[in-house]
Amino acid sequence: MNVKINEKRLLDTFLKLVVIDSESWNEGAIQKHLAEELKQLGCSVWVDKIGKKIGSNAQGNIIATLKGSRGGKAFLLSSHMDTVKPGKGIKPQVKHNRITSDGTTILGADDKAGLAIILEVLRTLKEQKPEHSPVQVIFTLNEENGMSGAKNLDYSKIKGTDGLILDNESVNELLIQGPEVNDFKVSIKGVAAHAGVCPEKGISALEVAVKALSLMKTGRIDKETVCNFGVVHGGEVTNVVMPYLELKAEVRSLCPKKLAKQVKHMKDCFAKAAKAFTKRVDGKVIKPQITIETPRRYGSLNVPKNAPAVKLVLAAAKKNGVNLKTMASGGGCDANVMCQHGLLMPNLGLGVQKCHTTQEYLDIKEFNQAAAIVLDTVLAYGK
Ligand SMILES: [Zn+2]
Repeated sequence: MNVKINEKRLLDTFLKLVVIDSESWNEGAIQKHLAEELKQLGCSVWVDKIGKKIGSNAQGNIIATLKGSRGGKAFLLSSHMDTVKPGKGIKPQVKHNRITSDGTTILGADDKAGLAIILEVLRTLKEQKPEHSPVQVIFTLNEENGMSGAKNLDYSKIKGTDGLILDNESVNELLIQGPEVNDFKVSIKGVAAHAGVCPEKGISALEVAVKALSLMKTGRIDKETVCNFGVVHGGEVTNVVMPYLELKAEVRSLCPKKLAKQVKHMKDCFAKAAKAFTKRVDGKVIKPQITIETPRRYGSLNVPKNAPAVKLVLAAAKKNGVNLKTMASGGGCDANVMCQHGLLMPNLGLGVQKCHTTQEYLDIKEFNQAAAIVLDTVLAYGK
């Protein structure tokens, strides 16, 4: 049986989805539309109620299940429902092999290309009735601002462990690794003193920070780890020894151990700097007070090369004439969050380029190839 997606219908679905405004926290309309479409396709559809909690006008994430003719675990397909700004009033332009916006907004192919492919794959299964495993669809809210949809998903509802995230750019790239990211916030309380009269009685928070940073390795730490200080706030006037300074940094690593090591190194440097600035003034010991917070932004994505979804998707790509390569990402997406819950879902590219800009476009040929790869991967799962 030669099962094939309908390319014309896929494109129509995409064009319908991109004109539904769905900037982050405003996914109400698209969530309703998608839940209805999934019902029409014969899925059992469940929408959670996390919208309010994360500040969205939508009810929640969608989890929809299509029964399989085969038994066994469901194959998971996931894309996010929100877009970045400016994403209101998108007017898609189809020119040659590309779809763009009219230049005043993003296109929203990130991630409506993924939503459209998933709907088309389900439609193909429904229409052509090939043998397949159950398919579970996860459409998330607010991926673009810290993945709060995926972070609040009820994972007890997920009936599989293998699947695909459809949220990457080139169809030649399959992301199987992504970094864990920690934020690193430092508050340094020095000691104020009149800079003109008695600077020796103060401790400059800035000088403490400079000392710590002079001892510290930042930037590229190793092949898998990077660190960057991006925010500095402190000081108001020049005639006071700076009493307070705040720094914000982030550490990313594909390897959680290396990340922990870098975070410890940074803390040690601040501790050494605090010690170096401890002194006695008028018979009293004064020292800088340093507070450090290191909340985890998200965990790493780590799908082994021999995971079922990776093997199947590589084979499906080959079958469709696509040279698909496994890669590591420098950023995070829903796949990172889902990986922390034991879901092994690599992130496939969909032919989207220049995401998050008004130059964003979708390459129709790659888009069709991605859809064919997803369909063939679904068909091969559990065979
Ligand atoms: Zn995306």
